[in-house]
Amino acid sequence: AKQNGTNDFQFFDKSMVDQDVNKFELENDLRNAIKNDSLTVYYQPKYNANTNNITGAEALARWKHPRHGMIPPGVFIPIAEEANLIVSLERMIIRQVFSQLVVWKGQKYQVPRTSINISIIHFYQEDFVKFMHQSLIEYDLSGELIEIEVTESIMIKKEDGINEQLQALREMGIEVSIDDFGTGYSSLSYLSKLSVDRLKIDQSFVAHSQENSEIISTIVSMATNLNLKVIAEGVETESQIDLLKSLGCQEVQGYYYSPPLPSAEYETKMNREFPE
Ligand code: C2E
Ligand code: CA
Ligand code: CA
Ligand code: CA
Repeated sequence: AKQNGTNDFQFFDKSMVDQDVNKFELENDLRNAIKNDSLTVYYQPKYNANTNNITGAEALARWKHPRHGMIPPGVFIPIAEEANLIVSLERMIIRQVFSQLVVWKGQKYQVPRTSINISIIHFYQEDFVKFMHQSLIEYDLSGELIEIEVTESIMIKKEDGINEQLQALREMGIEVSIDDFGTGYSSLSYLSKLSVDRLKIDQSFVAHSQENSEIISTIVSMATNLNLKVIAEGVETESQIDLLKSLGCQEVQGYYYSPPLPSAEYETKMNREFPE
């Protein structure tokens, strides 16, 4: 089944997980792929809809299976979460992104902030904040180049120390965005206490933006009132852009602008610095 605009996944069908492909085999292959650092990262640029400038990019994990071809993250991320592999998978992605940013910096690109998706499970790994801190030092990168995207599930519990971790990450300059905003069961009273920078309007609202314009407008004004930034994902058409702009959402991401791209293709969209 075709699952995204880049045709990456057209040969892989989710039903294969139940039928042809043995789930334990896939889990085992994923474990080895992580060990061998053989997953890759695609980058989907984010834009300011008014200026059309790049504002950042989202790093998305890609796995090309030697026999089954591209397997979508919608399939392998849940497997990684179940099989206790998500922390090592995400640390592999973090290292790949960091070393790529170092290369781009060395080539004098104006590198925009790059966001990395982080599962809530990662927050229960005690040394997560320390890992991020040490990685920034190891790669000699500023936290200003990094953002993490976490889903609303982080808002469910209050007493588990997650907010303190978010705070510590933000003190390093890392931005925190709440992904798929509006789809979870978050407590809005808690949102005002949570240490975050941005709400990311879920693509399901954007896909039917006319019908959901009240919801989008509510999220935008909530963000404004709470002093948060806001971005819309899954933007595919000009009319969606026009509506989002009219509702006060300027930052956008989606196939209309660009699908997720291999690093070499994303690179051509970045600007270079020309000192002097
Ligand atoms: P997400 O974080 O919500 O990422 C957005 C997904 O929407 C991506 O799918 C992206 O390719 C797709 N997309 C982008 N623009 C459009 C558009 O205009 N229209 C439509 N219909 N889709 C668009 P992808 O790459 O297949 O990733 C699926 C999910 O897998 C991600 O959803 C994220 O939850 C998860 N994922 C990917 N990489 C990682 C990772 O490194 N760690 C974790 N924890 N999750 C990841
Ligand atoms: Ca995301
Ligand atoms: Ca999302
Ligand atoms: Ca999603």
